[in-house]
This record gives sequence, structure tokens and C-alpha cells, in this order.
Amino acid sequence: MIFDRFRIDGQIALVTGGTRGIGLGIVEALAEAGARVVVSSKVPKPEVLARLRAAGHQVDYIAADMEDPAAPAKLIADTLALTGGRLDILVNNAGVAQHGDTETFPAAQYRRLMDINVDAVFRMCQAALTPMRKQHSGVILNIGSISGLVSNIPQPQAAYNASKAAVHMLTRSLASDHAADGIRVNAIAPGYIDTDMTSGGLADPVWGPIWRQMTPMPKVGTAEDIGAAALYLCSPASGFVTGEVLVIDGGYTAR
Ligand code: NDP
Repeated sequence: MIFDRFRIDGQIALVTGGTRGIGLGIVEALAEAGARVVVSSKVPKPEVLARLRAAGHQVDYIAADMEDPAAPAKLIADTLALTGGRLDILVNNAGVAQHGDTETFPAAQYRRLMDINVDAVFRMCQAALTPMRKQHSGVILNIGSISGLVSNIPQPQAAYNASKAAVHMLTRSLASDHAADGIRVNAIAPGYIDTDMTSGGLADPVWGPIWRQMTPMPKVGTAEDIGAAALYLCSPASGFVTGEVLVIDGGYTAR
């Protein structure tokens, strides 16, 4: 049955930034499809874990601050300790957005953004490759952005855009380097999705209308929209897909 290819029963998945927004949508999709999901975030949210468990999902939680260079290796090691050494799916979703004119963009904000959006993703992939190569199987999914493909307006956000372009190229490079190891590496490039990250911009009297007008489909995306695509890319349904940056943007980049 074709739907069986979307099942990931018993597989171990680790999702960063998994307690809210897009990450939570991905956690729910993977758990519904049968995975045991290790959820990570900077700020623990026991109520979210309780709700997931009450829904019958098999979830664990490990806190990790992706700004800390030592956190990725520790998070992977802690996950493996919890799962008996297995890691089938890694979703690098945690990220931050920062707007501002480039000429005056504070150095500390630039460093933090790159630390979380790029360096931590590289380090997470690095640490996950060892167990996945040993298993000769694994899937890595990185959350990029349409901002890694086009310079969306009106907000100036050169650093964020550059960080997401780096995520896309890291994805393609790792896919090429590790296909023979049985590891698939893909990315999703979301357009505007309704989360904490975008709530201010969507409500802004200038930005909100421009964001909506630039998106051919007359709506904003949801975490469930990204969760569904994540399940496709993390499951055997996408068994011949690697190095792909899947755009989910209501048509934004089609214009
Ligand atoms: P939110 O701001 O709603 O959530 C951000 C997530 O990242 C939270 O789970 C947060 O965890 C986690 N995070 C942030 N900083 C850290 C850190 N230092 N250490 C660990 N975790 C951290 O964002 P979204 O859900 O909207 O975004 C998720 C991803 O999708 C990001 O990579 C973002 O760039 C990308 N994206 C979002 C789009 C959108 O329209 N929303 C569009 C394109 C891409 P905590 O709760 O602990 O703070």
C-alpha cells in the first residue's frame, strides 16, 4: 500500500525547536506516523510534552541551547544514550530571525544568528553522521527558508537570508557526500508560516499586507503544512529523494 511508505513505526527521530511553531508541527506529524520522537528546545515546556503524551505519542525531551557550541554533540550523545544508540531521523528546525539594516546590524546579533541558524546545524549534522554511517541509514531534514532563495521584502534581513542559503547548500553538500552511506539529506524552504516568529510581521500594518500580497495563495501557511512535508521527506515515501530543497510557500517564489 502506498500509504505504508509514509509510516515510520519504531523509528527514532530527534527534532530541535520542537515544542512550538513549525518544530511542534513536525513532531506531531512524525509521532502520528509511528516514530518515537526526542523533542529538544532551549526552554522546556512540560505542558507541551504532557499534551503529546496524552495524545498517545511516544516522546522524550532533552533541553539544549543551540547557541552553545558544545550543545549539538551533547544533544546527539544524550539522544543516543536514551535510544540505545539509534538515530534514524534528525530534524534541524531551531532557528531565529532578526531584521535590520545591514550598515548598522549589531555584531553580537549577527554572531548569535549565525551560531544558531548555521553553526549549530552544521555541528548537529556532523554529530549525527557517526551513528547514521554505522547504521548505514538515516535521514536529515534541515529547515531553510524562501529567504535562502529570494530576498523577500519589505524587511531588510541580509544576515538571516545568508544563514538560510548556507543551510540549503550544506544540505546539498551532505546529500552528495553521504548518499553512498545510506543517508538522505533534504531541506524545506517555508514561505510565511503562522508562528511566534511571524506573528509581529503579520500583524504589522505595512509588512503584513505586503507579505500576503506577495503570496499568490490567499493565506498564510501553518505548522501542519510543514509537518506533512516533513513526514514525506523523513519517511520511505521519499526514498529516492536527496539534496532537495522543497519550497512550501503558497507560490511566493513562483512570482
Ligand atoms: P518560532 O520562533 O516560532 O520557534 C523557534 C524555535 O526555535 C523554538 O522552538 C525555539 O525554542 C527554537 N530555538 C530558538 N533559539 C534556540 C536556541 N538558542 N536553542 C535551541 N532552540 C532554539 O519559529 P518558527 O517555528 O516559525 O521557525 C522554525 C524554523 O523555521 C526556523 O529555523 C525558521 O527560521 C524557519 N522558518 C520559519 C518561517 C516562518 O514563516 N515561520 C519561514 C521560513 C523558515 P524555544 O521555545 O526553546 O525558544
